Amino acid sequence: MAEHRIEWVGTPNYTPGRAGRKPIAIVNHITAGYYPGALTWMQNPAAKVSSHYLVLQNGRILQLVKDEDTAWANGIVNRPNWPLYDGTNPNRYTLSIEHENISGGGLTEAQYQATLWLHKRLIKRWDIPINRDTIIGHDKLDTVDRPNDPGPNFPWDRLFTDLQRWRGGGQVAEPWKVKLVEQAQKEGLISEYHNPDDPASKWFVLAVALNLLKKIKS
Ligand SMILES: [Zn+2]
Repeated sequence: MAEHRIEWVGTPNYTPGRAGRKPIAIVNHITAGYYPGALTWMQNPAAKVSSHYLVLQNGRILQLVKDEDTAWANGIVNRPNWPLYDGTNPNRYTLSIEHENISGGGLTEAQYQATLWLHKRLIKRWDIPINRDTIIGHDKLDTVDRPNDPGPNFPWDRLFTDLQRWRGGGQVAEPWKVKLVEQAQKEGLISEYHNPDDPASKWFVLAVALNLLKKIKS
């Protein structure tokens, strides 16, 4: 397993602070251009764009904006398809990761390992749940002009499998158990992914029961 580290590069394109918000989700992007152009563009004040991180095809992780500050990553929200979007600027409550490639491309193995490592670090630091509402693509914020950001070749299934395995302490639940959890999530009984083999505490059982009650009553 390769050693990963974050290289600070910086950019003038950001807003200090987050207007009192904290990151609740990670937004994945594809640069649609190669390094170093992809980086110098995000460092050019005229571009008025940036992201917190840029993961290169060779596995290097560059940081342009501090997690505590607001990157200019998600442009204009256009017919969003993101349940956690609250009508305010999503840059305020998301962390953004750009991946070096042309539009529609996938990730190299080195790049995948680097972004997996970075996801784990951000999930741990900001207490971000692992599910498809909290780890998303730019396409969810702009379904009109960004349908391919990060695009169909982004390794979502592999990323979620690896993150859930990591969260579950290396244990991988059988597919039928995972399916049950996903079904319960879809039905609104639970709000995020849970390792199916985790023991259920009293509060959790009660929360599920109350969610069910709410569904029956409505
Ligand atoms: Zn994007």
